[in-house]
Amino acid sequence: MKKKERVLKIIEELGTLYPMTGCTLRYSDPLQLLIATQLAAQCTDERVNIVTKSLFKKYRTVEDFAGADIKELEDDIRSTGFYRNKARNIIACCQKIIADYEGKVPDTMEKLLSLPGVGRKTANVVLGNAFGIPGIVVDTHAKRLSRRLGLTREEDPVKIEFDLMKIVPKDKWTIFSHMLVFHGRAVCKARSPECGSCTIRPYCVFGNKKTEK
Ligand code: SF4
Repeated sequence: MKKKERVLKIIEELGTLYPMTGCTLRYSDPLQLLIATQLAAQCTDERVNIVTKSLFKKYRTVEDFAGADIKELEDDIRSTGFYRNKARNIIACCQKIIADYEGKVPDTMEKLLSLPGVGRKTANVVLGNAFGIPGIVVDTHAKRLSRRLGLTREEDPVKIEFDLMKIVPKDKWTIFSHMLVFHGRAVCKARSPECGSCTIRPYCVFGNKKTEK
């Protein structure tokens, strides 16, 4: 079966398994999602959601973040880890949004990438979930699963993203990313993938190799 055909089967199966997939970060507008995604680097979404619950009450606008006292913001986000870098980037990012984009989070990859601390992963999360513009997010789960599934041989997340863009239908880019995350957490775990109970095993290179042994 060709990669494109396998991807369609995988999407079909995972769609049945996870009909309610979506972004697990809590947000109510593009700015909140941008901040939450930056905080989620090297941190769990659960922890970020705890932190942002009070953070978004304290800092309500892009101006609030842009004018934040860095030490205070560091304390506010400390438990997400790498808090000094994150605080510096969040403030610089919001200052640039005000200076260059009239205080509104931009909705193109190019403009999002111009913001401090924003890479393709964060940009794709924001595009796909806040603006409905398809984007493939390659996080640790998507990287592991797409390699095990035999959809890419690349290690670099950006190269993986471009490999997946060639074989996943564009209107499925965002949902496909979510499906990989859900399946990575539930079944295709990093240390011990549960291939025996995995419904996409027939379409998985790694799973099939295990069968042959
Ligand atoms: S068959 Fe195994 S390796 Fe393949 S997706 Fe399922 S759990 Fe992961």
